[in-house]
Amino acid sequence: MKRLLILFLTLILTTACSFTTATQTPPLPTTPVDSAPPTIAPAEATPAAAPSSNGATLFYISGTSHIESKPQTWPDIDAYLAFLRQVTMLGMKWSVGADVGWLEGEARAAELIQKSEAMGVQWDVHAHSAEDRAKVAYLITQLGGHPNSVVSGMLVTELDIVRQPLTYQGFTWTPQVLWGGTLCVAHRPGCDDHSAGLWIPLSAEQYSTHDPNGTLVRVGGGSHQLDDGRALAQAIANGQYAFPVISFTLMVSPTSLTIVESNDGIDQIATFANEMNSYSFVRWANIEETAQAWAEAGSAPSRIEME
Ligand SMILES: [Zn+2]
Repeated sequence: MKRLLILFLTLILTTACSFTTATQTPPLPTTPVDSAPPTIAPAEATPAAAPSSNGATLFYISGTSHIESKPQTWPDIDAYLAFLRQVTMLGMKWSVGADVGWLEGEARAAELIQKSEAMGVQWDVHAHSAEDRAKVAYLITQLGGHPNSVVSGMLVTELDIVRQPLTYQGFTWTPQVLWGGTLCVAHRPGCDDHSAGLWIPLSAEQYSTHDPNGTLVRVGGGSHQLDDGRALAQAIANGQYAFPVISFTLMVSPTSLTIVESNDGIDQIATFANEMNSYSFVRWANIEETAQAWAEAGSAPSRIEME
């Protein structure tokens, strides 16, 4: 029975890797069927690419911030760089999504992009207008950065728009990952889909239905709150879920440097990170890496509703 399971897992691992992006995580370890050991050792060395090989749930935690177009939402560059240095030194993986207004108007945008990328921070594509997404990706490249394939924030009604490559002035950007499906315009209470977990949305109308033949991977960030992350980790430790991979994202305001809708700052985040590191199933990965790890683990949909 165990050999059958290993064979099955090996087949999944070798056939499920059609998901590719410009920034690759390390290749999967290949396990030859003939010489498969009785159990596949849990991978712990490569956090972003560790498949769930023993039936246990892996808990992928990312961190992100959005910078909006309005100047009053722009971060103090030095303070935000210091914050990013702290969280990345804690071992957390972060990403930033900045809208067109900041990319075009902040004199130190190139500096923040380049210095943060040097720390391992990724730049997602965040825009409030569907037409601006390719422009955001283009502007990040103009500022010396490397936009990834993450649509960070969108109306679920825009799903069909992001299914194909988007272009701006001859520059093409191809979305592969969705984060932050929003049910109504702007950031109003009750608008955001606060589910954790990953799946491929079937359609705008049936957004929470998994489409095994689809391509755009939806990474659920959950409520972003530290206590909800703790509760999820405890539930996983209790064996409550059969999902191979569950996602959760901490979201920090770039101006207050606290978790959105809370007063939790770097001290509370550091305490959280240390607590999470005591769980063997926790992986720190940014949003794009979380989607890659999910695909590599077999693309089994997971969805956990949160308030
Ligand atoms: Zn926004």
